[in-house]
Formats: sequence, C-alpha cells, structure tokens
Amino acid sequence: MARPTVAIVGQPNVGKSTIFNRIAGERISIVEDTPGVTRDRIYAHGSWLGHNFNLIDTGGIEVSDEPFIKQITDQAEIAIDEADVIVFMVNGKQGMTDADERVAQLLYRANTPVVLAVNKIDNPESRADIYDFYALGFGDPYPISGSHGLGIGDLLDAIIKNFPENAENTDDDSIKFSVIGRPNVGKSSLVNAILGENRVIVSDVAGTTRDAIDTKFENDGQEYTIVDTAGIRKRGKVYEKTEKYSVMRAMRAIDESDVTLMVLNAEEGIREQDKRVAGYAHEAGKGVIIVVNKWDALKKNNHSQQEFEADIREQFQYLAYAPIIFVSATTKQHVSQLPSLIKRVNENHQRRIQSSTLNDVIMDAIAITPTPTRNGKRLRIYYVTQVAVGPPTIVLFVNDPELLHFSYKRYLENQIRKNFDFVGTPIHLIARRRK
Ligand code: GDP
Ligand code: GDP
Repeated sequence: MARPTVAIVGQPNVGKSTIFNRIAGERISIVEDTPGVTRDRIYAHGSWLGHNFNLIDTGGIEVSDEPFIKQITDQAEIAIDEADVIVFMVNGKQGMTDADERVAQLLYRANTPVVLAVNKIDNPESRADIYDFYALGFGDPYPISGSHGLGIGDLLDAIIKNFPENAENTDDDSIKFSVIGRPNVGKSSLVNAILGENRVIVSDVAGTTRDAIDTKFENDGQEYTIVDTAGIRKRGKVYEKTEKYSVMRAMRAIDESDVTLMVLNAEEGIREQDKRVAGYAHEAGKGVIIVVNKWDALKKNNHSQQEFEADIREQFQYLAYAPIIFVSATTKQHVSQLPSLIKRVNENHQRRIQSSTLNDVIMDAIAITPTPTRNGKRLRIYYVTQVAVGPPTIVLFVNDPELLHFSYKRYLENQIRKNFDFVGTPIHLIARRRK
C-alpha cells in the first residue's frame, strides 16, 4: 500500500529538521552501527488522525559542490518529484528572502499542493510577522514554532487535507518487489533481463504517477510488480547521483514492497551503503533475497563462490534467513530463477501456522533443550500463537518475558525454521506475560 509523501523545503536554518523530528514518528534504528543514519535523518514515517505518510526533509540532501541557490532549487525539484504535498517553510523572524521567492517560482510550476509554514513564530506577539508571506502566493501561511511545538496540529490538518483521494488504494494480487543496491551494481540491467524473459503487463489506467514508476509482469501465472522502476532506470538528474537521495529512494521502494532484492556487485564486494539499506529492509520486516550480480565477471571456481557467501553471511549476520543467489544480468545466468524465488519468499512472508502445530514444535524444542533459568527462576512457555503475517509474528505467552534470553529466542526461531519454510523472511518472536 503506497503512503502519500510529504516533503519539507526551504532555505537552511528555517527549522526544517526541527519540524521533521517533531512530526516523524518511530525512529527506525538501523541494525549496523552506521553513523549518519539516525543523526541526520531525511526520511521517516509520520501519522496524524489515522493517516500514515512518508516524510522527507529535502534540506538533508546536499548536492555537493553546488552554490547555495542551486542547492535549494535542487531540493525544491526533489520535493516536486517525490511529494504528494509540499511543506514550504520560511523563517518568520527573518522575513521573506530572495531564496524564498526563487523556491516559490519553482513550486508554482508544479501541480503539487503547497502548504506554507512560517516557522519561529514563538509567541502570539510575533504572529504579525506572517502577513508578508501572503505575497508568496500560497494562500494562508501557517504560523508555527518548531522549538516550542506550536501550530503543528493545524499544519498537519492542512497537510492531510491535501492528500490525493485514493493514494492508499493500490492493492492488487501481484507480488511487489524492489531492486535495491548501490549505483552500478546492475539493478537496471537486472530489471531489463527479468522483463526480457517475462510478459510485461501494460496498464490500461493511463497517466497516474504510480503506473509510470512501477512495472508489472507475469511469470507462470503469477503477477509481479517491480516497485520504482523509474528510480532504477536513473533519469540523470544531478541529485540522483547523491548517496543520500538514493538511500532515501531505496527506503521508499522497500516500504512499498513485500520482497526486496538486495543486489551486490561480485566484482566490488560489500560496501557500507549496502549494509545501511539492507539493515533498513530487515528492520522494516520485509522478505529479503541477496542477489550477487556480475558473477560472469569473476574468475569462477567453487571456492570463490563459497568465499563470497561466507563473507556475506559474516557482514549481514542479521540476514541469516535471506537466500543468496548468484546471477549475471549480462549472460542471464540464473535470472530465470528469480521470479519463483521471489514467489517462494513472498509465500513464506505471508505464511500462517496453526497454533496447534506451532505449539507442538515449541514443546518439542523445549523437550530437547530445556528453557533457561535466571536467579533460580525458570522460563515457562505456556502457549504460542501466530498473531500476524508479513512478517510472521509469533507471540509466546510466558511467566516472565525477561527470562527469554536472546540465545534461547534464537534457538526457538531456528527450531521453527527447521519445521516450516520461512526462507527469506524475518520472524518476529514476542514474549508476553500471561495474565
Ligand atoms: P534547517 O536547516 O531548516 O533544518 O533548520 P534547523 O531545524 O536545523 O533549525 C535551525 C535553527 O533554528 C536551530 O538552531 C533551531 O534550534 C532553530 N529553530 C528551529 N525552530 C525554531 C523555532 O520555532 N523558533 C526559534 N526561535 N528557533 C527555531
Ligand atoms: P545500476 O546503476 O545498478 O542500475 O547498474 P546498471 O544496470 O546501469 O549497470 C552498471 C554497469 O554494469 C553497466 O555497464 C552494465 O553493463 C554492467 N553490468 C550489469 N550487469 C552486469 C553483469 O551481470 N555482468 C557484467 N559483466 N556487467 C554487468
């Protein structure tokens, strides 16, 4: 289900990241210790009155070596490309600037609705400072104070009022997958190779943005949607080469998919950016397949494949469940195996196990390796039930959740994986105290 996207634009120091942090809900912690991810977040989820949306702080996407005015006009372009609603933020203390007018000029030309927020209106007396900004031509300015948390509710009301009617209504029976990875790993080539081998479904719903950026195909009676095909086939704008932009784009694509193909380059090995995006896919609870592309370019012997696999397992320990497939987009080697693997991972991601069967497995596991004790107190597991799919989420009703050590939890997960096919999907195990 595609969420609407809100982007904040405005010149530096108007308070964009302050507002971003106030509106952004949960903080997605990345598994790896990746500096920068949480410090300067540019992409997050927000929700207001039951509406869920994506939030982008375009100020965090620096297009390096560009003069100031080019930077903010690029950021405005990004907002226009990415957002369903744009929050144009200005500084009430400073008054209107040339840069504000430049940004306004760009925003006029787009069809995206704009909500004008005047920040740093910290007290009622300074409310008069907003009137100048009527001249920008975006209707009533919304006075806010990021540091005092004032006016944010009214701003959010205005934002959700501008959401497209059926933005959240894109469900169909196709399996949605994203293809992510650093520039030049071969994402675009891989997508072309997959599409070359399968029947592409041409959408008859003309003209919506969604159809333009996603591509559908059919394989063996199953429909698939490749999320964000346009993003994969780079359109060649300056900012599309910046790492933060491509990471943000990958995060959005992951959010919209059931299964993520994490593409690595056999020639170059694993890089920091790979880990960052893979960590996000894992935390988001998506199905994950690790695809090692350009396998043709390496001198192959069985040894090198094993070494590469060992390296991947070492670097992505939290993705132990993800299958690894070695392919070549150029020679098409193993490309035809991708759709069925995606289908299998998707089925596993949606797999539901009957409580009785699940309890049998857990009780057998306890019989083999008894539950741990702490301070003389033994963990007791009374009952187990699966409460959700996508990813499979299993609740263990216990005497004391604190007694479920990480290592025993992993043991139980492994026992579950031995008994059912959960390849490619994380499993969430949650301990709850039985009342
Ligand atoms: P950005 O560059 O647009 O992301 O701006 P920041 O969010 O980093 O804020 C720039 C500066 O303005 C920081 O020192 C903030 O503490 C300050 N600031 C943010 N919001 C307000 C506000 O509502 N009132 C005042 N007085 N200062 C603010
Ligand atoms: P993207 O930036 O991830 O979309 O990567 P591209 O699909 O544009 O590929 C980048 C470069 O790698 C191009 O020159 C491709 O021809 C090359 N390439 C892609 N896949 C393969 C492959 O399987 N083997 C080899 N040898 N080169 C490949």
